[in-house]
Amino acid sequence: MGIVLDKDMDETRQGEAISMNKTEGSRKLYLESYGCAMNFSDSEVVASILVNDGFSTTQDSEEADLILINTCSIRENAEQRIRNRLRQFNRAKKQRPGLIIGILGCMAERLKTNLLEEEKLVDIVAGPDSYRDLPGLIEEVEGGQKAVNVLLSRDETYADISPVRLDKNGVTGFVSITRGCDNMCSFCVVPFTRGRERSRDPHTIVQECAALFNAGYREVTLLGQNVDSYRWNMTSKGEIKDENSPTTNFAQLLEMVAEVHPDLRVRFSTSHPKDMTIDVLHAIAKYENICNYIHLPVQSGNSDVLKRMNRGYTREWYLNRIAAINRIIPDCGITTDIITGFCDETLAQHEDTLSIMREVKYDTAYMYKYSVRPKTLAERKFEDNIPEEEKQRRLEEIITLQHEHSLAMNKAQIGKVEKVLVETPSKRSEEQMMGRTDRNLKVIFDRKGSKPGDYVMVKITDCNKASLKGEIVEA
Ligand code: SAM
Ligand code: SF4
Repeated sequence: MGIVLDKDMDETRQGEAISMNKTEGSRKLYLESYGCAMNFSDSEVVASILVNDGFSTTQDSEEADLILINTCSIRENAEQRIRNRLRQFNRAKKQRPGLIIGILGCMAERLKTNLLEEEKLVDIVAGPDSYRDLPGLIEEVEGGQKAVNVLLSRDETYADISPVRLDKNGVTGFVSITRGCDNMCSFCVVPFTRGRERSRDPHTIVQECAALFNAGYREVTLLGQNVDSYRWNMTSKGEIKDENSPTTNFAQLLEMVAEVHPDLRVRFSTSHPKDMTIDVLHAIAKYENICNYIHLPVQSGNSDVLKRMNRGYTREWYLNRIAAINRIIPDCGITTDIITGFCDETLAQHEDTLSIMREVKYDTAYMYKYSVRPKTLAERKFEDNIPEEEKQRRLEEIITLQHEHSLAMNKAQIGKVEKVLVETPSKRSEEQMMGRTDRNLKVIFDRKGSKPGDYVMVKITDCNKASLKGEIVEA
């Protein structure tokens, strides 16, 4: 299957073309995935549903009977890229009239029938909660109709679907634990495209992680827009729903997954500063196999901007969370997301973002210019009044500072010996391998008989701002 990950992807995995072995079946599916890790994980659910419906998978869009694009709406430029891709596929459709083109995910949910009726770019529009309906939607199209399902659900978690794994290394896998989001960050389209937050049954999560371990995987990343609000058998106010069943919060879920096997590394994304608990930090400290790594988006270093963003915390609160992390988990990697040029952001407020970066010293950051999104609170209440060139200038300033910090952080690793999980051969040579340290730093080293899925001890010898170099000291 051709899965192409968007270069602008927000989470830790970026930019590679992902493939899987061909599966048997008469009709061929080509699937491209854009956006965050959650979308990538959803693509694995979609692949599973369609392989069960008799599709085989292909990496070549030219031999496909069905082309699906799993889309992202988070910023305007992400949507533009997807529109261009749809236009390309539509040109191919002129030569192959039987070809079915479908759009999935956030853009499908946001634009609904527009893409069908006005832009005439697709045959199928399926929102993130309607993937079980895909076989039916395909049938409708084969019967000569256009097909749409953009209903959002209050309880769909695809808990019982065993995803077809598309991550080509066979070592690291994503596992969704919640869907949707109940926060209303004023800049964000996700609550509109992915609906209300729901948590998945913890036993199905543990089962999926155990199945991955048994299949040779050595790392799982638990995914949710706000993993800290994971709760099972509890209302959002903390009341127990069913007195006869146990409740599970995120810290407890982390421990359950860590218990699957000591050789299964556990990561998670995304943490929310307003909800991250001390119990989660203690779980990380207690289990060797829960990685010392937290992605904690700050968005801005200024409390007034954070208030307008409706993030639910102040600069001081955020720094207090950072202090708790450093106290409970020494040597924890911390990464973040930052938005520049949000509505009314003054130069002094921008300086506050630079100063919080200097205080925290993130390992890496995903940095974006604010992009106004239809229907959001910010679109309705505020003016997108920072000129594009100024947003770009501020963005470049924070990127330059982050690069300095990433380089300094990597230099500080030189001389250390780290336990590295081997993931793939490096991009440059089959004789070198790429793996990650516990705190998620990428390391390149000579293969010396190691293979994907092995743990090796690597002495760090050199670095640049993006990765470390090292040598195996003890296999
Ligand atoms: N749920 C995560 C959280 O609360 O941090 C973030 C999810 S979002 C898919 C990933 C990142 O995209 C956000 O953290 C934010 O930095 C960025 N983002 C979201 N909406 C944006 C917008 N309208 N313009 C620019 N960046 C945006
Ligand atoms: Fe968007 Fe905020 Fe939810 Fe993250 S927590 S998905 S930024 S609304």
